[in-house]
Amino acid sequence: MPVVAVVASPEHESEGHPERPERVPAAYGALTDVLARRDAATPTWRLLDPGPVHEDAIARCHVPGYADSLAAACARGPGLVDPAPTYVTPGSWAAAQRAAGAVCAVVDSVLDGARWGFALVRPPGHHAEPERPMGFCLLANAAIAARHAQARGVGRVAIVDFDVHHGNGTEAVFREDATVFYASIHQAGIYPGTGAARDRGAGAGLGTTLNVPLPPGAGDEALLAALDEHVLPALRAHDPELVLVSAGYDGHERDPLAWLRYTGAGFHAATTRLAQLAADHAEGRVALVLEGGYDLHGLAEGVAASVRALEGLPDASAEEASAR
Ligand SMILES: [Zn+2]
Repeated sequence: MPVVAVVASPEHESEGHPERPERVPAAYGALTDVLARRDAATPTWRLLDPGPVHEDAIARCHVPGYADSLAAACARGPGLVDPAPTYVTPGSWAAAQRAAGAVCAVVDSVLDGARWGFALVRPPGHHAEPERPMGFCLLANAAIAARHAQARGVGRVAIVDFDVHHGNGTEAVFREDATVFYASIHQAGIYPGTGAARDRGAGAGLGTTLNVPLPPGAGDEALLAALDEHVLPALRAHDPELVLVSAGYDGHERDPLAWLRYTGAGFHAATTRLAQLAADHAEGRVALVLEGGYDLHGLAEGVAASVRALEGLPDASAEEASAR
């Protein structure tokens, strides 16, 4: 049975900011629409009720003192901790701890045999660097979960990031680490400005970072070509025991923050490929972690497409076409 964790964090909010609490219910509604439709009589997914992340898990990815200084900044809030703008409120520290804890709990369930997992959480995580919050992100959720899995004995992990922005924070955590392969497909030339194709990691981790920047307007075909020609061959060579997906839906054609023009069909096809990677290499162990996605309809369509893919259902647009 799939597992889902939902952390909407209504106390982490700044009026008019695109990274807002309504994103999570929009995503969860889309997920339940897909799963409930399959068999209304019995529950088809398990909803987790996770607690806050353990401080040891934070310390695996962030520098000493990070948690204390971020907690203090939140307590002094509301205010900005990064010019993105990344805001905090007095409730943001608890929200960030719950979000990261939920991602770890989803990974725990996947390691314990759940068919797949989806952590619908905010604040997001992939821009948060070891020493600073950044880009609407406070804790490096996906990175923390990868390290959490490794603390449980998992060796090689793949993190695939299809958010429209480069996940500079996740990349920074694993830049010199050969055990966690970080692959990102993102729009070139936008925030945060990192993620050039030449950046392949460093030291022992040289070769286990892969960036595929795409030009504005690239669309589904470019996303799938990046996966098929670059990301998936590299990840198959890495032979991961767990596949984590930094699932941002701000590449959707409706999203106001960027312009990669993906559609639901693109997210469906991409997620299908990542689930297949997990099936072939990782005993099917795959967990998605919500990152960006700022148009509620685009976010809902993207999440629904990913969930349909994880369930082995056809793309919704294909289903509508066959029904005609
Ligand atoms: Zn993003």
